[in-house]
Amino acid sequence: MTTVSSFDRDEAFQLLRQLVAVRSYPGEERAVQEVVAGWLTAAGLAPEFQATANGQPNIIAQISNGPGPTLLLNGHVDTVLAVEGWPCDPWQGRLEGDRFSALGAGDMKAGVVVNMLVARALARQRDAWQGTLIFSSVTDEEAYSFGARALVASGLRADACIVTEPSFDALIIGAPGKILVRATAVGKAAHGFRPHEGVNAAIELARFIAHFAAAVPTLHHPHLPTSQTVLSFLSGSAQYVITLPERAEALITRQIIPGESEASLLDALHAFAETLHSPARFTFTIEPPYYPPFELGQDQPLLRAMRDASAAILGTALPVGYSSGVSDANIFAGEAGIPTVFFGPRAGDWHQSTEWVDLSTIVPCAQIVLETALRLLRNGE
Ligand SMILES: [Zn+2]
Repeated sequence: MTTVSSFDRDEAFQLLRQLVAVRSYPGEERAVQEVVAGWLTAAGLAPEFQATANGQPNIIAQISNGPGPTLLLNGHVDTVLAVEGWPCDPWQGRLEGDRFSALGAGDMKAGVVVNMLVARALARQRDAWQGTLIFSSVTDEEAYSFGARALVASGLRADACIVTEPSFDALIIGAPGKILVRATAVGKAAHGFRPHEGVNAAIELARFIAHFAAAVPTLHHPHLPTSQTVLSFLSGSAQYVITLPERAEALITRQIIPGESEASLLDALHAFAETLHSPARFTFTIEPPYYPPFELGQDQPLLRAMRDASAAILGTALPVGYSSGVSDANIFAGEAGIPTVFFGPRAGDWHQSTEWVDLSTIVPCAQIVLETALRLLRNGE
């Protein structure tokens, strides 16, 4: 297998600077997506704007190149909000040696650059592969993943997916999911001096909250973290009145691992509530965003291709690793059932004022992704 295309570090850096310069908080991605679409058009691709639930478009560019498998290359263009303390303009960034600091540089506009360069390379060498390549630049990953969800809801089918989130030293093949549950207790109002005439919802929900974590334990996974806790508790009136609170609400967050689901958690919470024999009525509802967990099997063709590609480019095959957070990979793998790996340029400090990416990892990352694509979409297979 020979890599038929070469990538240019300076071009990659200029493109990264262009994307970074356009502010793209969740809900305002359109301007940067127009830059992405403009570049793709100039590169001879045919980008399409896809509507998403936050009113901002995904950019999809499909290269159909005969029968064969479909590979999805995905990245997100939204960034978190700029925190205090940036030592430079977060949208201009600062270059020190090989390290470029800017908002969204690592998470993950450098990864979007990789996908743009690889899509163009594949478009230029159609005789070297067969199948379909779908490039996607999505919105809202840092909030509700509206972009990835819109892509899946559009009927997306793919045999493999690479999400170029920052992870240059390992191929990330699994991550826990996360689930948000609103627990509500409904009691009965009464005069605060005659509590025996009512049911104090605050006390009843507090009993539940104090003990649910021990009663509804998380599963164990050798590589994926689990956790659960209460994020908020609301009850009673904000205004002082001597009335027993008739309603209390708490928000429970939990990381989930393969084997757990929305239904299994709701069942467990209901079962524990029963054991309290509370006079209050408990209800549990799932609130967005829900992210299913995922774990790719070690024998997947995608993983084999990525290992081989990394060995061809770097000299040694990259090890596999696991993520502790959620990303759009959870949506593609967990929701749409597409074998997914995330792998991208080396970066760090995301969501901080010192976010950085190592520029020298962009080209080898693009080479590995291209090599993977050529192995998966090999001519005649
Ligand atoms: Zn990200």
